[in-house]
Amino acid sequence: MALIVQKYGGTSVANPERIRTVARHIVDCHDKGNQVVAVVSARAKQTDELIAMAKEICPEPSPRELDMLLSIGEQMSSALMAMAIHALGREAVSLTGVQVGIKTDNIYSKAKIQDIDNSRILGHLSRGESVIVAGFQGVDSANNITTLGRGGSDTTAIAIAAAIKADICDIYTDVDGVYTADPRIVPDARMLKTISYDELLEMASLGAKVMHSRAVEIAKRFDVPFRVRSSFTWAEGTLVCKEVPEMEKITVRGAAVDKNEAKVTMRGVSDKPGVAARIFGEIAAQNLNVDMIIQNISANGRTDVSFTVTKTDLAKALRIAEKLRGEIGAAEVLSDDKVAKVSVVGIGMRSHTGVAERMFRALAEAEVNIQMISTSEIKISCVINDDKADAALRAVHKAFDLDKIE
Ligand code: ASP
Ligand code: MG
Repeated sequence: MALIVQKYGGTSVANPERIRTVARHIVDCHDKGNQVVAVVSARAKQTDELIAMAKEICPEPSPRELDMLLSIGEQMSSALMAMAIHALGREAVSLTGVQVGIKTDNIYSKAKIQDIDNSRILGHLSRGESVIVAGFQGVDSANNITTLGRGGSDTTAIAIAAAIKADICDIYTDVDGVYTADPRIVPDARMLKTISYDELLEMASLGAKVMHSRAVEIAKRFDVPFRVRSSFTWAEGTLVCKEVPEMEKITVRGAAVDKNEAKVTMRGVSDKPGVAARIFGEIAAQNLNVDMIIQNISANGRTDVSFTVTKTDLAKALRIAEKLRGEIGAAEVLSDDKVAKVSVVGIGMRSHTGVAERMFRALAEAEVNIQMISTSEIKISCVINDDKADAALRAVHKAFDLDKIE
């Protein structure tokens, strides 16, 4: 007998037929002697529809009322799922975030979970009921409903798995698992059997849209192993877990390309203490995230500084750079939104040498020019021209034999 948490995303509960299919799966797991907690998302697109409806009523809806509204998508799915289980002749109970006792801070639309009371869930399970929890929501200390940020049901599921010490957490979605690269760009991408928390976190930050990053961080912190699986095929999926030495044998486990990058260059800024602090202080003050930064060797007391931001933040970053131009003595500000970032990720990089060289050679052979490079312990990224983005991803995927990974 196992204690299982399952999470069903929007496409998994998109319509009555999908809800019935999922209910059957929950009942099957229960009938095999397991205890099941299922966390459900709003049906696909419902959250977007609710946001659109709110904006039609009021262009800038109050964050409190918006969270109140958005939480109903998940509440609907949970009640319908419990009914579908009843229709199969089994016991189930739906619970909202408030009813479970998912305590959060009071930051509407991106609340963080502070505490989960596991007693109500465990009580229902001990009476043989399956528990269906509305994902993505909690309650602050003043009893207001909060939501956890888009995609937040993943976080609810992992946090509940940690709170009830589940044996496994299955994140059901519409893809089979985590792939070595986006299969739409790399046709011979392979599904991974296992990946470590850190690798998945890097992949997510590089634009691979697998899971809510905060969910993976919580899984790592509380050591909750989970699987990314499909509720359309019910295949085994990818196990995401704590790294073991064995996993380091694979140098690179994934490759990704992020096309949402743009580059800003400030030419001829004066090369003296405080200039970088001034530029990036101003950028941080405006809440822009800078990814890579390069500063050139200086000549005649002047240097060039380049950095990347997301394409959506480019206009803001340029306004800041222009504003600072006079003050820091920059000759000109240039920008390029035709860039992309290609990256490889793997914990095996820590113990293997020559990884960067292999990546650069693959890019050279594909005639891709490298504009900027950054590395971390388990990642290498290169900024390149975006018309070569897909070709570059395919080239590095092949160079690290990701098409042959077992
Ligand atoms: N329904 C929410 C969203 O669409 C939360 C979730 O699906 O996890 O972002
Ligand atoms: Mg979702």
